[in-house]
Parts: sequence; C-alpha cells; structure tokens
Amino acid sequence: MINIVLFGKPGAGKGTQAEFLKQKYNLVHISTGDVFRFNLKNDTLLGKQAKEYMDRGDLVPDELTIKMLQDEIEKNTEATGFLFDGFPRTIAQAEALDEFLASKNWDVTATIALEADDEILIKRLLERGKTSGRVDDQDESKIRNRYEEYNHKTAPLIDYYTSKNLFYSVNGIGTIEEITRRLSLIIDDFIDK
Ligand code: AMP
Repeated sequence: MINIVLFGKPGAGKGTQAEFLKQKYNLVHISTGDVFRFNLKNDTLLGKQAKEYMDRGDLVPDELTIKMLQDEIEKNTEATGFLFDGFPRTIAQAEALDEFLASKNWDVTATIALEADDEILIKRLLERGKTSGRVDDQDESKIRNRYEEYNHKTAPLIDYYTSKNLFYSVNGIGTIEEITRRLSLIIDDFIDK
C-alpha cells in the first residue's frame, strides 16, 4: 500500500501529474476539488453546501471535506494505494487522514510538493480559466484569495509532514514529463523498500 499526498499551491500541476502517476503506480486518485465540482454540477446537498465557499475561493469547512474524503476512501478499500490531490489542506484534515488511514492499518507514505513561484502560478490559473469554465480561475481576486487560504491554512502542513519525515518537494517548473520523472524518483524509492 502506498499513499501519496500530492501537495502544492493552486495551479502547481497536481491534477496533471496525478493523471500520469495514478496510471504508473496503479493508485486511486482522489481530487477533493474534482469531487466537489462533481457535486456542484449534480446539485447534490454537498454541492449546495460547498458552493458559496468554492465560488469565493475559500476552503470548504473541514467537517464536510473530511467526511467526503472518508466516503471516497471507503468506496475503494480494495485499492493498492491512493493518490491524494488537494487534500489535506488544513492541519485538522491531515490529522483526520492519519487517524482514518490508521484505522485501516495504513499510513501516509510520503507528501510530495510541487514548488513554483506564485506569480507564475497566478498567470497559469488565469490562462486555465479561459478554457476550464471554473469561476474560481477567472478572477484574479479569487485566485489571490485561494493563495491567502493556502498561506494561512495549508502551508503549516509543510512543518506537520516534515516533523514526521514525510515531506519531499520537487521543482514544479519544467515539462510535464520532466516533472513526472522528478516525482517518480521519489516514489520509486518507497516501492523498492
Ligand atoms: P482545487 O480544484 O483543488 O483547486 O479545489 C477547488 C476548490 O474546492 C477550493 O478552492 C476549495 O473551495 C475546495 N476544496 C478542494 N479541496 C479542499 C480541501 N481539501 N479542503 C477544503 N476545501 C477544498
């Protein structure tokens, strides 16, 4: 069982890399952003509850997010590993993930961050917004709010995982293939163990 947390600011390329890594390592990919967007589109109760937060670029409250994540894991208990993308984003979420995985005798194998400069990422998100249809990618003030949320609530996870010797980072600037290679070098090390 290998459980990888793909970490990074909005626009860092987590989703793009997850598409390659899930194939390569046979992992179940859980993107909390994608699950929220699916619920939004289908107008579910969860979608209704999450909408106002997502529209503003705020984090959805932990309680809703943790419950949703646990449900996604429960749907895939036969998995040989998970790739968490966009989760955890707060210390409370990270603690809940540890606890939930431990209840199944699993744990987080590694957290790998994609590093990139804010200004590059903001330009990238505005570009993506032109075609993605995501309202949170189309407005610079909403994007900046997502970075504020990241800096306040998500960045403390770097210390959280570093103190457990689980934090790794790679340069997130380069071609898709180069970045996949950088991530794979780290993951391969855990597979050989
Ligand atoms: P993303 O696609 O990962 O950028 O997520 C889009 C939006 O979904 C975020 O701006 C949040 O509103 C919400 N979201 C996704 N993942 C989480 C999470 N782990 N905790 C709270 N909110 C989240």
